[in-house]
Amino acid sequence: KKNLVEIKHLKEYFNVNVGFFKTKPLKAVDDVSFTIKKGETLGLVGESGCGKTTVGRTILNLYKPTAGEIWYDGKQIKTKEDIKEFRKKATMVFQDPYSSLNPRMTVSDIIGEPLDIHGLYKTKEERRERILELMSYVGLNSEHASRYAHEFSGGQRQRIGIARSLAVNPEFIVCDEPVSALDVSIQAQVINMFDELQDKLGLTYLFIAHDLLVVRHISDRIAVMYLGKMVELADAEEIYNNPLHPYSKSLLSSVPVPDPKIARANKRIVLSGDIPSPLNAPSGCPFRTRCPYAQEDCAMSMPEFKEVSSGHFVACHHIEDVAKIQNKIVLN
Ligand code: SF4
Repeated sequence: KKNLVEIKHLKEYFNVNVGFFKTKPLKAVDDVSFTIKKGETLGLVGESGCGKTTVGRTILNLYKPTAGEIWYDGKQIKTKEDIKEFRKKATMVFQDPYSSLNPRMTVSDIIGEPLDIHGLYKTKEERRERILELMSYVGLNSEHASRYAHEFSGGQRQRIGIARSLAVNPEFIVCDEPVSALDVSIQAQVINMFDELQDKLGLTYLFIAHDLLVVRHISDRIAVMYLGKMVELADAEEIYNNPLHPYSKSLLSSVPVPDPKIARANKRIVLSGDIPSPLNAPSGCPFRTRCPYAQEDCAMSMPEFKEVSSGHFVACHHIEDVAKIQNKIVLN
């Protein structure tokens, strides 16, 4: 499959006030590169503040990148014209269906708004039919059209949000934690719906979540971010069965894993403290202040994000040592 999205050395720095007339760059995304193939779902995972949402927003040019390149379908997105064209093919589903939809608009107007903005119909009848079609994609029926967003539950609101984002007939969707605000019982339904829509409409997803369990079934590959950097990227099954970065291991150790060997191997990785502020990121490896395997050289230089086996990328100076320690735990 060919690459649909290519991100090269993306940086997104925000200037933050730190005192009288003093600013400091907050490195929300710091030199991140990856690709997404056509028809693929790339899961992007990490704690709050790791930069995953900023990656999604910067790709869609909701934030202007500080540096780096965004390529779509073999073409670099650079000019205002490029961005305008790109927005017809790429869209976003937001995290919070409670605040992202205007409660005083009807479902029909919410879903119809992008059709109006982009002039995607000729007659009123055509507009109405398209809205009903979009509603049917997400399991809403025609009686819902004239009701208001505030009348719906969180799960249904998210369905309205998804129908709205499908209005422009996109090829690529950034799904920004689309199920985090929903009840656990509803999450699986909405994820299944994303899956079905992908098959039906040939969509490509960047699926952002803070929980590895959420992205497991929907993702073909998974990328893990920590403090603005990508620390691991591999096929979904590879990440679950053979995580190599200590941070990915710690994320996995906090979710139930069906294979008892893996569960035991990861159980002992307990992280101390919170994610540091990106304004005061540690020197060298960003994970070193919480890494149980950190050694002196981890403070000296940022580990290279390198391919250790086919398609499996990791940024850690001591993968071999980490693997040895894990084996010891398994054998105990
Ligand atoms: Fe831990 Fe060092 Fe690897 Fe960073 S480079 S993850 S601090 S062992």
